[in-house]
Order: sequence, then structure tokens, then C-alpha cells
Amino acid sequence: MSRLLIIGPPGAGKGTQAARLSVRLDVPAVSTGDIFRDNVRNGTELGVLAKSYMDRGEYVPDSVTDDLVKDRLSAADATGGFLLDGYPRTIAQVRSLDEYLAERGESLDAVIQLTADHEETVQRLLRRAKEQGRSDDTEDVIRRRLEVYAEQTAPLIDLFASRGVLVSVDGLGSIDEVTDRIVQALDGLGITAPAA
Ligand code: ADP
Repeated sequence: MSRLLIIGPPGAGKGTQAARLSVRLDVPAVSTGDIFRDNVRNGTELGVLAKSYMDRGEYVPDSVTDDLVKDRLSAADATGGFLLDGYPRTIAQVRSLDEYLAERGESLDAVIQLTADHEETVQRLLRRAKEQGRSDDTEDVIRRRLEVYAEQTAPLIDLFASRGVLVSVDGLGSIDEVTDRIVQALDGLGITAPAA
């Protein structure tokens, strides 16, 4: 069983790949962005709070996000492994997750960095804005999200690299090609799909 994280700039295709890897590796995909959007849709208190940050391209405060993830990872389906998408994305969130996993005697087995060219990601996000109408996919907010990513999340890459758990995968190409690259990279770390 594996404890994985997929990390990369907005528009790199994390969510798409996380959904496919979750099936291939038989672990639940845990996306903080999806959880926040579900809450916005259902008009919960958390949703109202999250929306006020998301619509500006800012991160929801760590205190809120940390507790949410701990809760989710405590569910029965995540005890044997999970694939995190969009969390942790600040150094403080890494510390919080480390501490929580240490209590379980665990740590992240692999961090998949999905790389993508800046211009390509902006184009993808603008296309998605037209197709799905996500309220944080406007040009100004996209620019801010990319800035926040560079400031707060990009530094995590070096941190995970220094732990020896990072694999970098080129996010350009067809969805299938990218999935195959990730599966191969994980294979190199000894993380393989369970026998059918
Ligand atoms: P993307 O990475 O494509 O911008 P996500 O769906 O992962 O999109 O996240 C959308 C928004 O949800 C973020 O811009 C942020 O406001 C909020 N969010 C998601 N994950 C986190 C997190 N770990 N910490 C703080 N805010 C988060």
C-alpha cells in the first residue's frame, strides 16, 4: 500500500492524473480543492469560508485545511494508503502532515511532481474556465494562483527531493502518456499496482 502526493502548478493536470492513479493503485484520491468545492456547492460553513479565499486565488488558512485533511485521512478507506492531491502546499502543512503520519508510524512513500510549462498551464486553465466555469479560473485569479504556487508551494519540491521521495514527471502530452510515465516512475521506486 502506498502513501502518495501529487504536486505541481495549477493546470498541470494533477486532478486528472490523481483520479486515474487512484483506480490503478487502488487507493483513495484525496483532493483538498475538490473537498472545498463540494462544500461551496453544498453551502456549508466551511464552503463559505473557503470560497472567500479560493475566489481570490489565495490559500485557505492552514489551520482549516490541516484539520480537514487529518479528518479525511482518518477514514477507514485511507488507513492502507492514499493519494493526496493539492495538500500539503505550504511548509507548515508539510509539518502538520508529517506529525500526523508519524503518529501512525507512517510517512509519504513518494511525491510525484507534475511539471508543466507556464504558458501551457495558463492556456489549459483558460480553456477549463470556458468549459467548466470554475469561479477561480478567471485570468486575474489564475495569475494570482500561479504566483502563490511559486511563492508558497514550489519550495516544497526541494524539500521532498532532499528526502529522496521525489519523482518528476513531464505533464505535457496526452493524458494516457502522462499516466504511463507516472506509473513507470513509481515502479522505479518499487510502488506498483496491486495484482488484479
Ligand atoms: P489548482 O491547484 O488547480 O489551483 P485546486 O483545486 O487544487 O486547484 O485548489 C483550488 C483552491 O482551493 C486553491 O486555490 C486554494 O484556494 C484552495 N486550496 C486547495 N488546497 C489547499 C491547501 N492545501 N491549502 C490551502 N488552500 C487550498
